[in-house]
Amino acid sequence: MSVNSERQDILDPQGQAAPFGPLRVLLAEIDRAKASVLASALDGSEFDLVIDRAATGGDVLRALEINGYDCAIIDAALPAFDALGALMELRGRGIDTPIILLVGSANERHARLLLEAGAADCVSDGELAGNRLGLSLWKAVRAHRSLHQLAASQQTLSARLMHDDVTQLPNRALFLDRLEKAATLARREHAAMALLLLDFKDFNQINRTFGHAIGDRLLEVAAARLVSAIRESDTLARVGDNEFAILLPTGATPNGVATAASKLREVLRRAFTIGQYRLQVTPAIGAAICPLHATTSSELMRAAESALWEAKSEARGFVVCAGGGNDGNREKLKLAGQLRQAIDRSELRLHYQPKIDIGRARVCGAEALVRWHHPRHGLLSPDNFIPLAEQIGLIGDLTGWVLNVALQQVADWHRRGLDLSISVNLSPLSLHNRELALLIEALLEKWRVPPSLLVLEITESAIISHMMRASEILRRLHRLGVGISIDDFGTGYTSLAYLRKLPVSELKIDKSFVTNMCRANDDAVIVRTIIELARNLGLKTVAEGVEERETWQALSRLGCEIAQGYYMSHPLDADAFERWLAESPWSLAGRPLPMSADAALSIPVAELAPFAVGRA
Ligand code: C2E
Ligand code: MG
Ligand code: MG
Repeated sequence: MSVNSERQDILDPQGQAAPFGPLRVLLAEIDRAKASVLASALDGSEFDLVIDRAATGGDVLRALEINGYDCAIIDAALPAFDALGALMELRGRGIDTPIILLVGSANERHARLLLEAGAADCVSDGELAGNRLGLSLWKAVRAHRSLHQLAASQQTLSARLMHDDVTQLPNRALFLDRLEKAATLARREHAAMALLLLDFKDFNQINRTFGHAIGDRLLEVAAARLVSAIRESDTLARVGDNEFAILLPTGATPNGVATAASKLREVLRRAFTIGQYRLQVTPAIGAAICPLHATTSSELMRAAESALWEAKSEARGFVVCAGGGNDGNREKLKLAGQLRQAIDRSELRLHYQPKIDIGRARVCGAEALVRWHHPRHGLLSPDNFIPLAEQIGLIGDLTGWVLNVALQQVADWHRRGLDLSISVNLSPLSLHNRELALLIEALLEKWRVPPSLLVLEITESAIISHMMRASEILRRLHRLGVGISIDDFGTGYTSLAYLRKLPVSELKIDKSFVTNMCRANDDAVIVRTIIELARNLGLKTVAEGVEERETWQALSRLGCEIAQGYYMSHPLDADAFERWLAESPWSLAGRPLPMSADAALSIPVAELAPFAVGRA
């Protein structure tokens, strides 16, 4: 048995410390050589481990039966050990310790079989070095603990009365619990979900006239019809005397919600035959979408209640979030409804802002920045509609559109001998899109653009809040050969350890530090530190928000490679960008720079006076 001396917390995917405490691990490896590889893999895993050892298959089973281990790491080639049989045996005995199997050079099919039989992970010899084993251990323990927590919370919940006696649907308490979880998940995953409240306006009248027994029977039949109108993933509950609530965990766009509401109203349209009576009800529905109208479950409930109230008081069948008559919300909702068509009807445009290689004082690429030419509101900046596209599930389509147009443009430049790279911004939600790498690969192929000419910009905050996913998807994108830039760098708190591991090629210093760096010493210090950090990590630096010549010169002295900002050019539409390319002093044509104020730009970096700010 060995005990690591240093205690370290474990980073969860959000990058926060998740103190697991010491982990008890059963280790069974076949030979000394493997034992030493394993020991160094685990030593580097940043866990506080208490390790017991087992030598044979029989020892493993006995040890797992007697002791509660957090995880077992077992060499599948142990003497008298049949991995598949052992997994089944363990499950049969109700032992759910996560098992990581070391499978030598096992083929994929065999590994899949073991995973299907319940192994937490299969690690081949080739994967033993590096942090793969540590990651696998972390995942296995985390999944195991989550399962236990889930089981415990399920038990607590079922201890309470969770269902309504009349309709057998979840009751208010259970529904609120699910709503809370769904809202938390939506916030974490930047996804959308919706809450619909449905009320029968005339139910009290029915109760009074025909009695509660008939009223209850009506609710029962109505509930069955409502169940038939929702998807399996939706939750229907009875949350009040004559009030139902429906949770739509996906498809929560304004259009999707309207479709769901019309289905619900449709199934209630037919008269109800209860005993000898034929009864008709008039449903009203109010809906609210998270995060469009509210982000917490209680706010969402209030927003849906107020929409329901409006639907009832204005004799309308269905209202999406009245929002207390909030014009801003209504306007947002309208824009959200129009965005789909805007993409299809090419109302979106790309503007291009030049990126200048400071050393050569020549344009080396451009950043594609999307705008919406709205028929009524005119030119809308991305801040007006990108968050909306993210909220209503359209960001994937929008990103696809941007990538396609940007790559078509870069292909055109490339054909004409202009080797300009193009930078495209990715939403944090792209980190959830497993298809993105495939799409980019297909588009590079379609427009025959060398991958090295595409740079994907993703903000530092997005990477931090989705660290695990970010590293996975960035690796995939990196394998395509495209560049990866961390946008708005300096505004988040990227761990240096992670930064070194991420396959990024460029740090883009946030404009909030760059723009005033010649006036604010603190900003200058930050800019200089980032440039030095990038240099140490072998990354390029881009400074955005360069608005003045002094800033350009200061960046040049600091050794920043690329500058972008209003000083050189605002973002321009494709035609204006062409004119800029032809006329500007930074053009590729290598025209001489005017010897006016800009003459300093052509002075080699070494000849410039040392940059004094921030060194005190
Ligand atoms: P960003 O990627 O950091 O882009 C830089 C923003 O700074 C752009 O604003 C640009 O016009 C502005 N800018 C450039 N030079 C200067 C300067 O010298 N001074 C100042 N004060 N600002 C400057 P824009 O075009 O409004 O874009 C805002 C943000 O919207 C972008 O920030 C990016 O995060 C997002 N965005 C733009 N296009 C797309 C897109 O196609 N997809 C996604 N997901 N996001 C996009
Ligand atoms: Mg950007
Ligand atoms: Mg930026």
